Amino acid sequence: MELNSNSPSGPIETRWDRHRFNLKLVNPANKRKYTIIVVGSGLAGGSAAASLAELGYNVDCFCFQDSPRRAHSIAAQGGINAAKNYHNDGDSVYRLFYDTVKGGDFRARESNVYRLAGISLNIIDQCVGQGVPFAREYSGYLDNRSFGGAQVSRTFYSRGQTGQQLLLGAYQALERQIGMGAVKMFPRTEMLDLIVVDGRARGIVTRDLITGKIESHFADAVVLGTGGYSNVYYLTTNAKGCNATAIWRAHKRGALFANPCFTQIHPTCIPVSGEYQSKLTLMSESLRNDGRVWVPATKRDKRAPSQIPEAERDYYLERKYPSFGNLVPRDVASRNAKAVCDEGLGVGETGLAVYLDFRDSIQRLGASVIKERYGNLFDMYNRITGEDPYKEPMRIYPAIHYVMGGLWVDYNLMSNVPGLYVIGEANFSDHGANRLGASALMQGLADGYFVLPNTIGDYLASNKFDKVDASHAAVREAESNVHAVTRKLLDAKGKRSVDSYHRELGKIMWDYCGMARTADGLKHALTLIPPLREQYWSDVKVLGSGEELNQSLEKAGRVADFFELAELICRDALDRNESCGGHFREEYQTPEGEAARDDEHYAYAAAWGFQGVGQPPLLHKEPLTFEYVHPSQRSYK
Ligand SMILES: Cc1cc2nc3c(=O)[nH]c(=O)nc-3n(C[C@H](O)[C@H](O)[C@H](O)COP(=O)(O)OP(=O)(O)OC[C@H]3O[C@@H](n4cnc5c(N)ncnc54)[C@H](O)[C@@H]3O)c2cc1C
Repeated sequence: MELNSNSPSGPIETRWDRHRFNLKLVNPANKRKYTIIVVGSGLAGGSAAASLAELGYNVDCFCFQDSPRRAHSIAAQGGINAAKNYHNDGDSVYRLFYDTVKGGDFRARESNVYRLAGISLNIIDQCVGQGVPFAREYSGYLDNRSFGGAQVSRTFYSRGQTGQQLLLGAYQALERQIGMGAVKMFPRTEMLDLIVVDGRARGIVTRDLITGKIESHFADAVVLGTGGYSNVYYLTTNAKGCNATAIWRAHKRGALFANPCFTQIHPTCIPVSGEYQSKLTLMSESLRNDGRVWVPATKRDKRAPSQIPEAERDYYLERKYPSFGNLVPRDVASRNAKAVCDEGLGVGETGLAVYLDFRDSIQRLGASVIKERYGNLFDMYNRITGEDPYKEPMRIYPAIHYVMGGLWVDYNLMSNVPGLYVIGEANFSDHGANRLGASALMQGLADGYFVLPNTIGDYLASNKFDKVDASHAAVREAESNVHAVTRKLLDAKGKRSVDSYHRELGKIMWDYCGMARTADGLKHALTLIPPLREQYWSDVKVLGSGEELNQSLEKAGRVADFFELAELICRDALDRNESCGGHFREEYQTPEGEAARDDEHYAYAAAWGFQGVGQPPLLHKEPLTFEYVHPSQRSYK
């Protein structure tokens, strides 16, 4: 299959403007004749649904939570990037573009990244207009802080709850449209299949999570803003409900899945504390603005941190990367934390932790300033660990956090299935092999507020749409597929809980496809996952019925999809014989232990086609070309 990215050519600065001019428009009076389904009401889906309705389209918006306000986006802590250059510290759209392409280890599409950097300016204006309470300096200007992989301060924030404030902004815009009747909201409704008619996305099959009713919804285009799939690893920083079902089932209907193995491991999370833990907690990257990362200089030093004198500490990030110090990108910081712990220098009971220490900044700035910047994060840490980070350093360790992979989309954010658009973390778009901190919120809102509302009109204006209803064979087939999967899960009547299978799958993924990967390990994982998947279908125990609120059944369907996705992730990781960004194959590293790319053979987005459960997927390649930021060994020294 020829993958056409529809990426414009010519000077990069004007590509998006020229592209927009060439897109067909839908006359304002005609917009109300179209219906668009938006699945997801997080920052991506919520902003898209509100913006599309504002333009005049009819929008049906779905989420599985009881309110759009509870989308996982609400958990985002640290901030959102924008090249406003308020600090006059040398930032520009071009620098944000450059940092993002380099930070992604040269595995993203240049045209998309440049557009994202440009739109970052509009996002801040839009959100300020909505009343999002960004932190301000004494002068009244919006304040900025720094995030990894950048030497400028371009991250806008609202204490440690930026996602919540941005989501409230998008939610208010969405509620306004709901109030005006332009958006019909379907909370507690889970998409379980995509309806494809004559090769085009025309609707979805859903299950009402309260009554269990399975029904179909029809539209002229379908947008998925359904978030990331990190939870395939079980223990992650994501909300427990995050899952891959919407994009995975769309994949099974023909949508290509791109770069599934590009997972991000966040360096600053509260370490795992016990076998029965079901969730990990992020300590925002913003803390690395003022916190210093260190370990004792000698192995298995059991002294309390306050007893270890300065000369016996190793501030290893500052030592190895003097230019970026504690603000190296996440992949680099995570690998280094693992390396020092593997050497026996880790701290805490398990030895799988390093210190993040605020002593110096508290001395320099005072505890009140630190509290103002990160108070809620410090409280969260204190409640979980019982330790006071104002008095002793935090203990942190890397954990699975975000996925750069997702459904393949072109420059218009349309998948290879015409009429199926994918936005936010659910698509593979702009971050390459490693996302820079504070860039996910930027991308989700760029997609939802600014890109999709422009591009979707071109598709609608260029096509004719026959009416589709429940009698169509494709609809009946999709509905009976959903009924069959639900029945099969309930009928298994096995002995083990859904969670126990999920935990076992997650451990396989972390052990063999986590922070460090090898060909042997990945091959081994691929011998473990299929039999466990088979066993799952015959031995899983799902209590209750399908005609009621049944969280065990909800989880069971999501974990079934995680099993199939896990296999694809391992195959992709095995196929990519190089290291890049978060994908670290131990066989491919520089003498200093950094990721060694192979641009000659792997400068492409790997877009996989589904061929059947347990069947090898089909690889399609979208070659990546770099006209502006020329691939080099990333250096943060
Ligand atoms: C702890 C944490 C902190 C973070 N901090 C930052 C930060 O400071 N800065 C930053 O840039 N990024 C941050 N991120 C990443 C960022 O929060 C996410 O990438 C982003 O919010 C994802 O937004 P989204 O709209 O794509 O998905 P989500 O917010 O996850 O929304 C998904 C939506 O899809 C719906 N949905 C999913 N599946 C279905 C289905 N099958 N049927 C119906 N509805 C469905 C859900 O109900 C929800 O409404 C953080 C992530 C975590 C985990």
